[in-house]
Amino acid sequence: MATGRVDLDGNPIKPVTICMIGAGGFIGSHLCEKLLEVTPHKVLAVDVYNDKIKHLLEPSSLWGDRIQFHRLNIKNDSRLEGLIRMADLVSILAFLALISAFLFDFGGDLCSITTVNLAAICTPADYNTRPLDTIYSNFIDALPVVKYCSENGKRLIHFSTCEVYGKTIGYFLPKDSPLRQDPDYYLLKEDASPCIFGPIEKQRWSYACAKQLIERLIYAEGAENGLEFTIVRPFNWIGPRMDFIPGIDGPSEGVPRVLACFSNNLLRREPLKLVDGGEAQRTFVYIKDAIEAVLLMIENPARANGHIFNVGNPSNEVTVRQLAEMMTQVYTKVSGEPPVDTPTIDISSQEFYGEGYDDSDKRIPDMTIINRQLGWNPKTSLWDLLESTLTYQHRTYAEAVKKATSKPVAS
Ligand code: NAD
Repeated sequence: MATGRVDLDGNPIKPVTICMIGAGGFIGSHLCEKLLEVTPHKVLAVDVYNDKIKHLLEPSSLWGDRIQFHRLNIKNDSRLEGLIRMADLVSILAFLALISAFLFDFGGDLCSITTVNLAAICTPADYNTRPLDTIYSNFIDALPVVKYCSENGKRLIHFSTCEVYGKTIGYFLPKDSPLRQDPDYYLLKEDASPCIFGPIEKQRWSYACAKQLIERLIYAEGAENGLEFTIVRPFNWIGPRMDFIPGIDGPSEGVPRVLACFSNNLLRREPLKLVDGGEAQRTFVYIKDAIEAVLLMIENPARANGHIFNVGNPSNEVTVRQLAEMMTQVYTKVSGEPPVDTPTIDISSQEFYGEGYDDSDKRIPDMTIINRQLGWNPKTSLWDLLESTLTYQHRTYAEAVKKATSKPVAS
């Protein structure tokens, strides 16, 4: 059945059933929304949480018949374990049985299945404090998914990270070297840049290293066994529903990624904490722009298969200190509240993240491959994406934070 939609080469797009693992997270929730709103595709949404996609699952939702949620931990779900024991098969095949059972229930067509794997521990505060969980989550737990896709001829879109590049070559040059301004020394290219990590005792690199190894495994499955794959390297995608606000919809002691950390400080009228002077440079892309790129990958397999794609916005580069200043300015506008007297404070990475932390100096994506294959370009400026995101943060959390902070402290 055709959908009325055509791909980039003018061919009709057939509806597919997408098994999305990690669908309940930040990126997954936006991808589910987009797929339901503008395509006829079906989604098998797999995650341990569904709070961020609840609005899509409600019986009154327009799309209830095209999305099905399966609460499942791919690491240790008892159904998975039961199947492995019962069938006396390797876990890979048990996983296959499980996914097939979803399809049977859903009336899906096994031939049209695409798997999008987003499941991961991906908050920097975990990389050096929970390195084992980080490595297991990003490498070991993804193995059955890759194997299943490879052995059954299913297409896989796997989410990796821009962290696989590690540090830039320019970082190792003297601080005053003019070569540091030369893109050859900092631009991150999928098919040319090396992956430069710190020593093993800097456990921060556990995440990047696990992601790199799963990328290599997927690539090798493609080369040796014909797996149809696409690897996505997100460069700081940000927007509404990213992470949590500690003490409101996540643990009080939790440390989310920078957008939610700074949002939390702004909501609580605290200074924003700048780790190691906030000197690291990052490029930020609006989640809604980035989701357009993923949709192009889903609907243009002939152009996306076998490729690794940087997905970021090279025009939106700032230091983390500049990001803090911009967020303070934008939050003043959207909340109507003046900034606090001391908008930022410096903190060492040792104090903020603990032993074993390290960082990438600069991350600018080269866009040649995604431009050539999919014609994709990001549209939203950093000012605009911060305005829509902080408007969302203020509307969603300001009241709850006020209530939480006005409660008398228990003696
Ligand atoms: P997220 O934490 O919001 O989403 C990940 C989801 O995976 C969560 O809902 C989590 O519950 C689920 N999950 C984790 N382990 C699971 C398991 N064992 N079984 C079932 N579900 C499990 O993160 P996100 O920002 O949406 O990131 C999605 C992917 O993109 C990750 O692989 C991440 O490494 C990658 N990535 C994202 C960014 C970004 O800018 N947001 C940057 C680099 C890489």
